[in-house]
Amino acid sequence: MDKIDFRSDTVSWPTPRMKEAMAIAPIGDDVYGEDPTVNELERLAAAKVGKEAAVFVTSGTQGNLLGVLSHAQRGDEVILGRDSHIALAEAGGVSVLGGVAMRQLATDKYGKMDLAEVETAVRANDPHYPISRLIAVENSYGTKYGYPISPDYYANIRTIAQHHNMSVHMDGARLFNSAVAQNIDAREITQHVDSVTFCLSKGLSAPIGSVLCGSAEVIQRARRLRKLVGGSMRQAGVVAAAGVVALHEMIERLADDHDNAHALAEGLATIPGIDIDVDMVRTNIVFFDLAADAKVSSEEFAAQLREKANIWVGGGYGKRFRAVTHYWITRADVDLFLHTVRQIL
Ligand SMILES: *Cc1c(COP(=O)(O)O)cnc(C)c1O
Repeated sequence: MDKIDFRSDTVSWPTPRMKEAMAIAPIGDDVYGEDPTVNELERLAAAKVGKEAAVFVTSGTQGNLLGVLSHAQRGDEVILGRDSHIALAEAGGVSVLGGVAMRQLATDKYGKMDLAEVETAVRANDPHYPISRLIAVENSYGTKYGYPISPDYYANIRTIAQHHNMSVHMDGARLFNSAVAQNIDAREITQHVDSVTFCLSKGLSAPIGSVLCGSAEVIQRARRLRKLVGGSMRQAGVVAAAGVVALHEMIERLADDHDNAHALAEGLATIPGIDIDVDMVRTNIVFFDLAADAKVSSEEFAAQLREKANIWVGGGYGKRFRAVTHYWITRADVDLFLHTVRQIL
């Protein structure tokens, strides 16, 4: 990569092995179900999360949209965290395109909704109210440092959902980061949800795409919805090939990204002028703040990182910045980042 790009893991380029696989992938028309590479990816993805079926989608946003709308219809309501990606960063799609109302609850430091609040948010059967149909959860939790939430939380969410005949959808954009950080199989988490989306295009380093997984019935509905939003692709095996490599080769190594993120966080904590909660850094996302008395403004800080070392960071909304590690960020890049921040401050 031409710059040292900590803005997100979405910036990660395909690996050499992915490019090779993309060049030689057997392909066909996926709308006819005839692309062998897409079919392989979908089989593999479903197996990784212990579900019956999967559908390859253009993005995590599309996976969540299809996931939610496969369970809930116009007039239904989804209960979810108010700082979840679905509520905050998907252009209101489930409401705009699906007519599904969002019941947005507060989350704690780690991204968990209070279980008693979830329970009371479920609507009574009364014509005044929308129909509580779905609970949507997230793991790792993006706005909370990518914190990896443990399976027992989802077991509790599922108990509430089952009690009220509701379904559970998981936005698992960084599901494998969460599983690797907890040293558990992803299926220990996803066994508690009816559907799950995960991104191939983030830490797993594929250039494009996400997968929505669930029961055969849910995925059949999702395929129709994917067509509806124009997301069905033809010789998509060209892209899916990178996803196959991602699932075979790129999951275990996420631990390296977590180590690098942790090293970055520990280093930043030693620099006067930086505020950071190191203990929250368990996966590949580091949030840090310029202290109120820092020598430079946020704009100047980001500009100097770029000028001095071609290092790009996310955020700069107010005093808060985000640095995300991924396949193309090495320990030497982390050291250069720390060295440059020391120079600036
Ligand atoms: C990135 C992300 C998504 C959406 O992925 P896109 O592919 O960018 O649409 C959804 N949820 C979370 C938590 C994410 O971090």
